[in-house]
Amino acid sequence: MATADAPLLDDQTSGALIAEVLTPVALDQTYSYAAPDGLALEEGSVVQIPFGPRETVGVVWELRRGASGSNLKKVTAKAPCPPLSEKLRKLVDWVARYTLAPRGMVLRMALRAPESDQPERMITGVRLVGQPPRRLTPARAKVLAAAGDGAPKPKRELADAAGVSLAVIDGLVDEGTLETVGILPSPIAPRPDPDHAHTALEDSQAEAAAVLRDAVRARAFSVTLLEGVTGSGKTEVYFEAVADAIRGGRQTLIMLPEIALTAQFLDRFEGRFGVRPAEWHSGMAGRRRERTHAAVASGEALVVAGARSALFLPFRDLGLVVVDEEHEHAYKQEDGVHYHARDMAVVRGRIEGAPVILASATPSIESRVNAEQGRYRHLRLPGRFGGRALPDLAAIDMRRDGPPRGKWLSEKLVNAVRETLDRGEQTLLYLNRRGYAPLTLCNACGHRFQCPNCTAWLVEHRFRRALVCHHCGHVERRPDACPSCGALDCLAACGPGVERLAEEVAEAFPGVPSLVLSSDFPGGTERLRRELEAVAAGEFPIVIGTQLVAKGHNFPSLSLVGVVDADLGLASGDPRAGERTFQVLQQVTGRAGRGHTAGRALLQTFQPDHPVLKALLSGDVERFYAEEIAMRRAAGLPPFGRLAAVIVSADERGPAEAHARALARSAPHHPEVMVLGPAEAPIAVVRGRHRFRMLVKTPREFPMQDWLRHWLREGPKATGNTRVQVDVDPMSF
Ligand code: ADP
Ligand code: ZN
Repeated sequence: MATADAPLLDDQTSGALIAEVLTPVALDQTYSYAAPDGLALEEGSVVQIPFGPRETVGVVWELRRGASGSNLKKVTAKAPCPPLSEKLRKLVDWVARYTLAPRGMVLRMALRAPESDQPERMITGVRLVGQPPRRLTPARAKVLAAAGDGAPKPKRELADAAGVSLAVIDGLVDEGTLETVGILPSPIAPRPDPDHAHTALEDSQAEAAAVLRDAVRARAFSVTLLEGVTGSGKTEVYFEAVADAIRGGRQTLIMLPEIALTAQFLDRFEGRFGVRPAEWHSGMAGRRRERTHAAVASGEALVVAGARSALFLPFRDLGLVVVDEEHEHAYKQEDGVHYHARDMAVVRGRIEGAPVILASATPSIESRVNAEQGRYRHLRLPGRFGGRALPDLAAIDMRRDGPPRGKWLSEKLVNAVRETLDRGEQTLLYLNRRGYAPLTLCNACGHRFQCPNCTAWLVEHRFRRALVCHHCGHVERRPDACPSCGALDCLAACGPGVERLAEEVAEAFPGVPSLVLSSDFPGGTERLRRELEAVAAGEFPIVIGTQLVAKGHNFPSLSLVGVVDADLGLASGDPRAGERTFQVLQQVTGRAGRGHTAGRALLQTFQPDHPVLKALLSGDVERFYAEEIAMRRAAGLPPFGRLAAVIVSADERGPAEAHARALARSAPHHPEVMVLGPAEAPIAVVRGRHRFRMLVKTPREFPMQDWLRHWLREGPKATGNTRVQVDVDPMSF
């Protein structure tokens, strides 16, 4: 609150009404405005206010009486939308306090949908008015048949139903057979039917579902970790809890790590509940976004499936939160407000008094520890539905059985692919590397292609004939001659990417259709959606993919997964590397054998004795968790201790480093706080900004945010283009 000018002895019950308004900009404080009587403001009202030289939108964070009202600027207007609920305001405050982001920036996420006062735009519809056309062509007859009983129909829809062009419809309007009417678009969120389709649950599934249903009925905050291998029926089970929330008329938020790829989820929801859930993600277009926002606020949208930004929707009566694939790193937002959507979903559940379900085949270490220490309820589904076997996992020891230089598929893996093809089944070759080759160099002089903006090598994308930076998106044409020594035809690709693997597959299996799936997929998410459906239908005998295909998809005829480089994720020095590799390999190998065929997975590795690979190969998941948790505990790493990264960046290296060092020196001494660094960030330059990083480590019970806030407030101020960013609970450390 900007109260510096408020008299100390403000009488809280008399005096002018003052609104403390928070604006959606990068500021933490509210500003005081006089609240005119006529506006009937309440806390949470969305208002228009003069702000510097212009007018802006804001939210009344607090209303109070005070003597200083007369010399304040006035709130200009109140927007005709429902006020932000107290719970949502609490969430904004909480997230800001936790992440150290200015409150206004968090508010911006909650206001992303505009406070629209425009009436709903109508669409052009037509209806039959009974005047028969003078000339009845076959096309016109079809329209009359499709027009039905005289209820208005959208024009486009009618033309499609009759299989005619819009001109035919217009002709009938001209003749007076049809008349145009405005109709409102169908409601954004038809009501899901909890009993639309019934699934007979297995005993263990039914037990888990009963516990979750009780949690929904308790109408109180609780967290349940729902753990079970891929295919064990977690979705089926939490759908029972969703059904119960629907029966109780309460809203459900289902969070998914990547909404663009969740066509299968939406279809599946429709199969169970008869309609699709309302969808929410940042790529949604304006009008649909607004309507969904309004439907959530009015309570009309009972179930919302969304990406992390759905967390800040203004639910009217939230009765259940589900975080699917809770271990996914995509839940962490790494720019703007650095927040972890899973953790904040738990916070929202607590504020709303609603149960939270975290579902995963490979829970995060954090959630596992919370379950072990009794903070979360732990439900486990024992195996795959219907007693289907998990895939057989085996390692291919590349030290012995590796392919010749310049090839990436071992003979053993090639043979396994051939057997799979012979049986008419599908293979997935997994390599988490986009493009053709991760590094391009000149054979004559050793020149390497580096991004001009980042300390990163350019990745060759042969389909696009380009060299691309995966950090900033910089693209340049792949030259014919080395820019350094001028030699021609000397550029060599080092290492494999999925495109290069596709070449090798085409050589080994000529004529066999294969498909490369990575986030570079041309044609956008719609085309990707269709291709994923084609893959699910078994159309491509060989699929080559990055992490994109590891997540959540169900490919029924997929029976072999070949992991081309199982060591890839283990190489980094990041303490989370083990957890991450374990999760993604478990996930991707779990794609095999989900339909009626048994599955197997082959992992090419140079270190078959690595603990992560041993745990995967032996299926001893418990041992993996036990070792990983013991390691974190011993090192005081999350969740046994707290971490925050403080990143100092600037256009030049010198000022960035100088400010980072000055900040580090100014860190208040505390026996429980360790400040490591500053050191150059793992990728030292991104988008032309030089970055230095400090890591702050404290015990779990320590009020780390308060300490950080104090430090950054009292420490030296950044000047010029130097910026300081805080990332609480960084994903890599
Ligand atoms: P998970 O979410 O754990 O990966 P799913 O809920 O997707 O598992 O279930 C895997 C597959 O098994 C799905 O095709 C699902 O429809 C099916 N399935 C699971 N449980 C049942 C059941 N009780 N009856 C019929 N089909 C089931
Ligand atoms: Zn770059």
